[in-house]
Amino acid sequence: MPTLSEIKLTVGNLRVELDDHLTDPRELIARHLAVQLDDIISVQPTRRSIDARRGKPGLVMNFLVHMTGRPSQLPAQTAEFVPAKILPPARQIKHNQAVAVVGTGPAGLFAAWRLSEAGLRPTLIERGKDFPARHEDIAALLSEGRLEPESNFHFGFGGAGTYSDGKLFTRLNHPGVRYVMQVLQQHGAGTQDEIMVDAQAHVGTDRWPEVLVNLRSELEDRGCSFRFTARVTGLSIGNKKITGLQLADGSHECRAVILAPGNSSRDLFESLHLSGIGLVAKPFAVGVRLTHPQEVIDSIQYGRYSDHPALPPATYRLTTKVKGRGVYTFCMCPGGRVVPTPTEQGLLSLNGMSNSARDSGEANAAVVVSLAPEDLEPADDPLVGIRFQRKLEQAAYLAGGENFHAPTMSLSSLLSGNMSDRAIKVNYSPGINPHDVASLLPDWLAEPLREGLSSFSRKLKNFNHPRAAVLGLETRTSSPVRILRDKQGMSPGLSGLFPAGEGSGYAGGIVSSAVDGIRAADALLTWLAGK
Ligand SMILES: Cc1cc2nc3c(=O)[nH]c(=O)nc-3n(C[C@H](O)[C@H](O)[C@H](O)COP(=O)(O)OP(=O)(O)OC[C@H]3O[C@@H](n4cnc5c(N)ncnc54)[C@H](O)[C@@H]3O)c2cc1C
Repeated sequence: MPTLSEIKLTVGNLRVELDDHLTDPRELIARHLAVQLDDIISVQPTRRSIDARRGKPGLVMNFLVHMTGRPSQLPAQTAEFVPAKILPPARQIKHNQAVAVVGTGPAGLFAAWRLSEAGLRPTLIERGKDFPARHEDIAALLSEGRLEPESNFHFGFGGAGTYSDGKLFTRLNHPGVRYVMQVLQQHGAGTQDEIMVDAQAHVGTDRWPEVLVNLRSELEDRGCSFRFTARVTGLSIGNKKITGLQLADGSHECRAVILAPGNSSRDLFESLHLSGIGLVAKPFAVGVRLTHPQEVIDSIQYGRYSDHPALPPATYRLTTKVKGRGVYTFCMCPGGRVVPTPTEQGLLSLNGMSNSARDSGEANAAVVVSLAPEDLEPADDPLVGIRFQRKLEQAAYLAGGENFHAPTMSLSSLLSGNMSDRAIKVNYSPGINPHDVASLLPDWLAEPLREGLSSFSRKLKNFNHPRAAVLGLETRTSSPVRILRDKQGMSPGLSGLFPAGEGSGYAGGIVSSAVDGIRAADALLTWLAGK
């Protein structure tokens, strides 16, 4: 008989009943594998999600188990432990080179992080303001509807995710995902359990600024520098090579640029297009923000267990197809609030944010309809999507009546087409104005939106709740533009320009944009090494 020795294995997709959420994981695993508690040396939870599908919610967990056993014979329902693929170390560059990173969002910061690991000391150039000035501008927008076009929810230190729900999940399968999560966790995003184990990890607006300050301080220790209120207006090019950046108030010399401007730098997209940089229009989605009392969503998802201490504020994700168009919920923020996210005067767009506790009592999500450049005229104009966004945002602003008030109606009115919402209440500041929100979209989008919402209301009982409200409009779910990249990750025909992140059109969301920043940095390092 083979002798017992120490083995490491993975127990995956183990359903843990809610009342067991505080039980010692060793006990859970011993019970599950039908082995003695003493056989289990240690148990480490590696992933936790909520399964609310079968009437009674439960936790679904993965564990890394270290136990004594017979190596030739794994217990049933287990697999041999295979460590996750890790991101290889950055390629080292001996001498510093003049490299600039445009944008301090997740893509720009992680690009700089990677470059600094390779021994470079890039300059980060950011159009928006640093903290605390950016916090003050956000406060003025929320309380008085006063927009500072260069310092708002999109522009400023940390980029678009700074005042957000801070959701950290992505479908991307890349070793950079784990790396980004680890760096964020080590810089104050949350506990190991909150960030590395929870499948729905999120940071929250109250924690992001501290994470960003910590990352920046380490980047500065490595020799990187930050320039704020420095808006890039164009590129300096000589002999098909980058030679620097043109700024609103001067210039900056460099031989390579990682361009990570996010999805809202419309003036920069226009300038790039004028100077012949390869851009194309890409598909995106527009729609509305939908709010419910959080207790309604909890009760829909968790039923009579909704007050159970093991359950976080509930989320939902819904999707359908109407006449060939995707209609889906996006960026759901449990216990959050809807916020105005414009970057231009007289144009309104919305998004959602939350604090780490997700305890505002209100749930919100975008409900959007997909569209492609071919839906717009002229489809081959790279900027056609931006023009369309602006048109919708202007209609939303005017319907709001003043200072970024949001046109708002009840979900039931939108579904019935009968607008009777004078007394509707939503936690949105600077304020709301009752208005038929669907009428702000062209029919070819309003109809799929209505049908999609109607299908969601049939799927989830009580979704069409009397206090469910619809606010308009959500227009910036992703970039309407792609800045083309060649196989080397560079702008075709222009040596030294590396587009990255959501604004490049190759990524979307905090983590995927951060990983794309790492990709762009690796492409730049390979290019430098080959020169
Ligand atoms: C309110 C809100 C909530 C969100 N919630 C979530 C969420 O919970 N989870 C999630 O995954 N995603 C969320 N997102 C989306 C997420 O923030 C973005 O996908 C992500 O930040 C994109 O990263 P990025 O670095 O590519 O661009 P950005 O974060 O947009 O950063 C771009 C930076 O470049 C700067 N910049 C732009 N143009 C110039 C210029 N010309 N010169 C100099 N600097 C320039 C901008 O000021 C900005 O700081 C949210 C977005 C918003 C607005």
